[in-house]
Amino acid sequence: MFVHFSEQEGGRMKIKKIMEGPRDGEVRCLACFTRFRPELGAESANCPKCGIVWRISWPYPKTAKVRGPVWDTYPTEIDENV
Ligand SMILES: [Zn+2]
Repeated sequence: MFVHFSEQEGGRMKIKKIMEGPRDGEVRCLACFTRFRPELGAESANCPKCGIVWRISWPYPKTAKVRGPVWDTYPTEIDENV
């Protein structure tokens, strides 16, 4: 995942400014790690690269988060071209 809060550094929580932190409205495909931007408020979005559809949640109005794959569209036969 792309958010890491280090909470165990002498008990003092440091929130680093992560250069590659999540950007507003962007998610990263968990299959091919392509960043893409789902439609604002969309409940699902498909990765432009590999086409897997992800369920999207919006913990904040403009902050998208991938919840998991939409299993109906997740390729079950990944080894079709081995
Ligand atoms: Zn992808």
